[in-house]
Formats: sequence, C-alpha cells, structure tokens
Amino acid sequence: MFVDKVRITVCGGRGGDGAVAFHREKYVASGGPDGGDGGHGGSVILRVNDNLSTLLDFRYKRKYAAQAGVNGQGRKMSGKRGESLIVEVPRGTVVRDAATNQIIVDMSTGEDFVLAKGGRGGWGNAHYATPTRQVPRFARSGLKGQERDVILELKLLADVGLVGFPNVGKSTLLSVTSNARPKIANYHFTTLFPNLGVIYVDEGVSFVMADIPGIIEGAAEGAGLGHDFLRHIDRCRLLVHVVDVSGSEGRDPVEDFWAILRELKDYSVDLSDRPMIVAANKTDLLSPDSDNLERLRAAAEEAGCPLYEISAGTTQGTRQLMRVVAEKLRTLPPVTIYEPEYVEVIAEAGDPDALTIEHEGSTWLVTGQWLERLIQDINFDDYESRNYFDLQLRKCGLFARLEEMGIQDGDTVDIYDWQFDYQR
Ligand code: GDP
Ligand code: MG
Repeated sequence: MFVDKVRITVCGGRGGDGAVAFHREKYVASGGPDGGDGGHGGSVILRVNDNLSTLLDFRYKRKYAAQAGVNGQGRKMSGKRGESLIVEVPRGTVVRDAATNQIIVDMSTGEDFVLAKGGRGGWGNAHYATPTRQVPRFARSGLKGQERDVILELKLLADVGLVGFPNVGKSTLLSVTSNARPKIANYHFTTLFPNLGVIYVDEGVSFVMADIPGIIEGAAEGAGLGHDFLRHIDRCRLLVHVVDVSGSEGRDPVEDFWAILRELKDYSVDLSDRPMIVAANKTDLLSPDSDNLERLRAAAEEAGCPLYEISAGTTQGTRQLMRVVAEKLRTLPPVTIYEPEYVEVIAEAGDPDALTIEHEGSTWLVTGQWLERLIQDINFDDYESRNYFDLQLRKCGLFARLEEMGIQDGDTVDIYDWQFDYQR
C-alpha cells in the first residue's frame, strides 16, 4: 500500500518539576535549601531518511510524544533532560498545520526540524536561596510541552515527471533508462504508487525521473487514481508526456494527448504551464499506412512541445530522448522547495489580574496561565525575544501591580525559570 498523506499529533515532553529540599547532614541542625531544578522536556524532531519512500508507518501510529524531563531532587540534583524523539520522514515530505493547512516546513533539504518543543523544567528551591532568605519553601513546576496537529504530505523530489494514459509505456520507459524496476504489465494501473529512477546520461550528468500511475480523464475531478498522484509531479521541472502513437489499445493518440493536457490544467494551471516533451511511443507497432504520427506531431507543435519518436519496448530512441531531457533540464530552474507559510503566533500578555503574585522577602513569584504560554515562546538567549517579553509585561501592567504591592528597586522578580532584578 502506498500512503502519501497522513495526519498526526506531536507533543513535546513536559518539563520536570523543581524540588523543595533542605540540606541535611549529621550534626548539622538545619541546612539551606538544596532542591534541584527539573529537566527540560524533550522535543519532537523531524529528520529525513532517504531509505523511506512512503508515509506508511504513520498510518499505524498517529501520536508522537517526546520524553518528559525528570523532576529535580535534593542535594541540588537537577532532573535529567527528557530525550528528544526523532521522527523520520521520506525526503520531500511537506508538513502542514492541520487547522490552517499552511506549510510549516518542507523536509527536502535534509536539515532537522523541531516540530514540537519540550516544556521548560521548573527551578528547585536551591535557586531561591539568598543571603537574606535561607529557607525558601517554594519551587516551580515544569511547563507543558508544545502540542500540535499536523498533516504530512509526500511530494516527491523528481526532475522529470512521466505523464500519460494507462498502458502507454511510462513504466517501461523508466525501466529501460534507469536503475528503477517498476512493475510492468499489459493492464491498466499496474503502477499503484510512484516509482523514482535515476538516469545517468553522461559522466556527472544525471537526473531523477518519476513514474506515476496513469492519469485518466476526469482524474482532476476525482475519477480513477490520477488526482492524488498528480501531487507527486507538482515539483517536477519538466514533464515527459508519453503517448501510445500506435493506437494499440484502440484509442486515438491525438485525443489522448489533448485529454491529458486538459487534465493537467484542471488540476493546476501551474502544472500545465510546465515545460513538456512528447514521447511518441510504441513506434515499433505503428502500421505503415497510419497517419497517427503526423497528426500527433501537428498537435504537439500546436501545444508548443517538441516531439521524439521512441519505442520503449525495443529501447529505440530512448537514449536520445534522455539526452534531450538532460539538455533541457540544464536550462530550467531547480526543483521547488516550498517556503513556510505558517507563522507561529507568539503568545501575548493577558489580564494581569489573572496572575498570582506571592512574595517571600524580596523575591516576587509570578505565575499564571497566559504567562506560562508566553514564557514558552521566549528564547532568553535572544535579545529581541527578551525585549518582547519585557514589553509584554510592561504593557499588561504587571509592574504597576507589583509596585502597588510594594516591590522595591533591587528586589527579584521570578517568572518560572527566569529571574531578574527589578529596576523602576
Ligand atoms: P504504463 O501503464 O504507461 O506504465 O505502461 P507499461 O510500461 O506498464 O506498458 C504497458 C504495456 O505496453 C506493457 O505490456 C509493455 O510491455 C508494453 N509496451 C510499452 N512500451 C512498448 C513499446 O514501445 N512497444 C511495444 N510493442 N510495447 C510496449
Ligand atoms: Mg505503469
């Protein structure tokens, strides 16, 4: 079975909780706070594996969760960081946000992608010890990991896409010109999933060609198998349109030719504008008194496509065709890599009254739901990100509220695992 579109849920691991603990030693009456921090949760990371060619595995497993961070312990022992979960996908997998259908990432370049971030670990009470406050009894809980629903969609990375009616000889052409060994048989739809083949033309000159199941008329409206498979040639730089010029199946090659062009246009105008070369196949079966070849040549010319005569069965003309294809590819832009469309919405500050503010001595602990979300989105190593955070807190009136409650310059404001000295 070929599976090329699935919906999955990914979930970053929860951060571990910080510990509340106190140092204990023989003969020492009471020690200071020594609760360690919780470990950060692991992330879900996507990685390309070139040995995969379908999304089949995802059909049986829909939920992918990374490991949680371990809670902190006494003696200042930090919890272990949760292990990240590596999820392998075939090259050319496009990831979309399930709710908006926007592209999050195109897994084509081979770079890893963090799809769901792990939650931050909470600080243990050892973090809160100051010379003036020896017995802090508070620690922080870990935060939840990011959870998202996404759609994975496989869009093969091929330079050339073979199109044409069933049984015209597409798979045969791929098999005689490349290392691929697609299934070939004299009945329709033997190719039930796309095949990729690498074609070596000359030293250092090669390209990838994809054979997809035959398109039949009405495929763009959902008839037959064609529609779903057309997405695999979305990225192709060039189409080779294979036509059975002998009419061996009792169909008219010229009608077939126009029918496929209509089909492509119905599917996408963009695809129908793709450069196309016509391969007039099965010339070995062409009867001498047939005018099929001339009529097809005229049609191809009208459509602006060069035509080459071949017989995939006897390999007559196939090498020459591959040379022409390679030559044409040199003039065309590279395979499309899709730009991300999805812009992560960074959380904003909410109602300051929804926050809980506690204070112990000169440390002010602030918690609240929207603040959790906001802090997850902030990268504290990044100046701009930190600035955004600061701005959000000012805007929402948190600092005004702290002042009302009596905060002094130099006091510590503590927000989850982030602390700073308060300055008016
Ligand atoms: P596809 O459905 O377009 O992939 O077509 P196939 O490659 O599976 O070929 C369909 C049938 O046509 C098979 O029986 C092939 O052996 C036959 N065939 C393909 N090309 C030629 C050709 O050039 N000459 C002849 N005589 N038969 C061919
Ligand atoms: Mg086939």
